[in-house]
Amino acid sequence: MLKNRTEIINTPEHIGKEVTLFGWVDTIRDHGKVGFIDLRDKTGIVQVVFYGENYAKLKELGNEYVVKIKGSVKERNKGQNNENIPTGSVEVDPTDVEVLNTAAELPIPINTDGLDIKEETRLEYRYLDLRRPRMAANMRNRSKAAQYIRTYLHKEGFCEIETPMLTKSTPEGARDFLVPSRLHQGSFYALPQSPQQYKQLLMVAGFEKYFQFAKCFRDEDARADRAYGEFTQLDLEMSFVEQNDILDLTETMFTKMVEDLFPEKKIQQKPWPRIPYKEAIKKYGTDKPDLRKDKNDPNEMAFAWVIDFPLFAEQSEEDFFHGSGSAKFAPSHHMFTSPHPDDIKLLDTDPTKARGLQHDMVLNGFEVGGGSIRIHSAEVQSKIFDLIGFSKEQKEQFTHMLKAFTYGVPPHGGIAPGLDRFLMVLFGEPSLRELMAFPSSTKGRTAVMDAPNDVTDAQLKELGIKTV
Ligand code: ASP
Repeated sequence: MLKNRTEIINTPEHIGKEVTLFGWVDTIRDHGKVGFIDLRDKTGIVQVVFYGENYAKLKELGNEYVVKIKGSVKERNKGQNNENIPTGSVEVDPTDVEVLNTAAELPIPINTDGLDIKEETRLEYRYLDLRRPRMAANMRNRSKAAQYIRTYLHKEGFCEIETPMLTKSTPEGARDFLVPSRLHQGSFYALPQSPQQYKQLLMVAGFEKYFQFAKCFRDEDARADRAYGEFTQLDLEMSFVEQNDILDLTETMFTKMVEDLFPEKKIQQKPWPRIPYKEAIKKYGTDKPDLRKDKNDPNEMAFAWVIDFPLFAEQSEEDFFHGSGSAKFAPSHHMFTSPHPDDIKLLDTDPTKARGLQHDMVLNGFEVGGGSIRIHSAEVQSKIFDLIGFSKEQKEQFTHMLKAFTYGVPPHGGIAPGLDRFLMVLFGEPSLRELMAFPSSTKGRTAVMDAPNDVTDAQLKELGIKTV
């Protein structure tokens, strides 16, 4: 921190003393002869008052100017406290005002919740949009939540490990983003749809407890609860566990996090109900039931687990096309999910009746995470590949998994709650993008930088690519 700088939130501790503040001019209220600004830094706002010979200095300021203000902190006159802000009992009487940078008129207002502004415009100016208090709070809360989870999982003996972004297609049922290779012309990397295979390989490697905040890339159309292109999952995997262990760990961690960080939120039922898939469909008509008692209460959080999913689901033509096999059915979760041990025999007789050891984490009617106990036998894995109609070539794409499984693979399983999605539901935000600093638009254009865009002919040539 700059020498002698006082953060705005701390001004009330300096009554009667001189402070040096840095920040942005949030609002200007000029009453003629006397005027006020609210000065804003990352910690809050404080009122600076201009009167007497100081009044002229107010005229040099504009909205969103970046300033350094030296001044003395005074208690406000009786009855003039502003209960709405933590610094509302004080104001600053400036002795020195320095404009560090001026600011042009902003293209969008930032003192509203911003939800009525066209999203494309908000994304074009995301660096301004993030100045609005709602967005700034979302980013800070996201950071707090991530930090809480990191600390929690480290205490539980987890190791945080990064897995590659330039990798091979991993089948989570969406289209891949492909990246052309310069060194191997005509070949492509795929950005990971999830670190699924790597995290399982980390279990073969003996880490037993792994997690990371994983960027996942899926080329699928955006919806409110699905961002275009990329999103973040809290990806975790554990060895020598049963399904209950994964549910217990996740449930305890999320419950504690909500209670510790966001105490205004009330978890409706503890422990979270665990509902078999069939029962969910029968009782609620959906596998992501909204169990809130009062849907108008923004603080009510109704978590639930849905378990005992069928291992396979009917497959659409589109799935066929995207290479998840050619059989009439595809894995409901993904092809690494273990069949229920009681249903292994059904794989040979009536696979559609087999249950999988899949678990979905549901919050207020949204699926906020999914995971499973994995297959840890090369033989069963190979059988699943056959059942979903994998061709020889498709199978070959996964030889590394089958091979790894021959070298001592522990039984393992995991889950991947969506970080953006969970926070979207927790804060009742209308879309995932409200929790992301620089999301792509629903039309798939990146915030501010407006990619994708043209590249030079030289770049294409180097990659051996011709566009049509
Ligand atoms: N990789 C899975 C997914 O992205 C999560 C998991 O099975 O752990 O849905």
